[in-house]
Amino acid sequence: MTTQECRPDVRTPEQGGVPLTTEPRAPHAQAGPADQAAPAFSPDTDPLEIIRWALEAHPDVLMPSAFNLNGVVLLDLAVKAGYQGEVVFVDTGYHFPETLQTRDRLAARYPELSFVTLNAGAHPEDGQTPSDLYATDADACCAARKVAPLQAYLRQQAPSALLNARSRDQAATRAEIPFVEAGTRVKINPLAHWTRERLEAYARDHDLPVNPLYWDGFLSVGCWTCTRAVRPGEDARAGRWAGKGKTECGLWAGGNAL
Ligand code: SF4
Repeated sequence: MTTQECRPDVRTPEQGGVPLTTEPRAPHAQAGPADQAAPAFSPDTDPLEIIRWALEAHPDVLMPSAFNLNGVVLLDLAVKAGYQGEVVFVDTGYHFPETLQTRDRLAARYPELSFVTLNAGAHPEDGQTPSDLYATDADACCAARKVAPLQAYLRQQAPSALLNARSRDQAATRAEIPFVEAGTRVKINPLAHWTRERLEAYARDHDLPVNPLYWDGFLSVGCWTCTRAVRPGEDARAGRWAGKGKTECGLWAGGNAL
């Protein structure tokens, strides 16, 4: 296992960093446009084929992950396809212990990968932001504690593409995700067409270390402050920022998307 601890400096707005604005900026964009330079994969294309293409077309591809069901499945497929790069996780300071344990179990299972944990750019206790910012301005909290550290790390590493585990059936806001998404960096989404049932079956068949909270109804696990279990009939991400009119943290949609 190679676990690397990083704490990239957070830049102030004057230095070009993410401003801690209190203006609402919950992203409503569904996804970036499809990358026209990519092959025309069909909904039935095996994710392994897409990942193998990604490794060839973008040898510097990097994989951020929060170790949800989708992420764990993608990680396993990526290793099978030959990925040996970094898996980058942002520790906001508010993660469930089960999430951190899942990261550690994955790191032990896949020694060929390098697990990088970015400590929160603005830690709850460091005085840079109010410790209850998640309650008063969740967008600003995500921007400071989640998006800024990862953006800083990506500026440093400068990958041309990111491997991402989003799928269309996670939420209405993700219903149009293409396999290969154009943007600041190319986003490759090999699981775009996989359903939750298929992901669960894959995880069970391969005995993957899924976050135990998942089986308690936390179908998408974020910070404990902003996550509840999903109720019958709700989509997989309904437990994230419930009641706050917010659907995305800002990593994958919105003006500061990766
Ligand atoms: S999910 Fe909640 S606690 Fe975590 S960074 Fe976003 S607003 Fe803050």
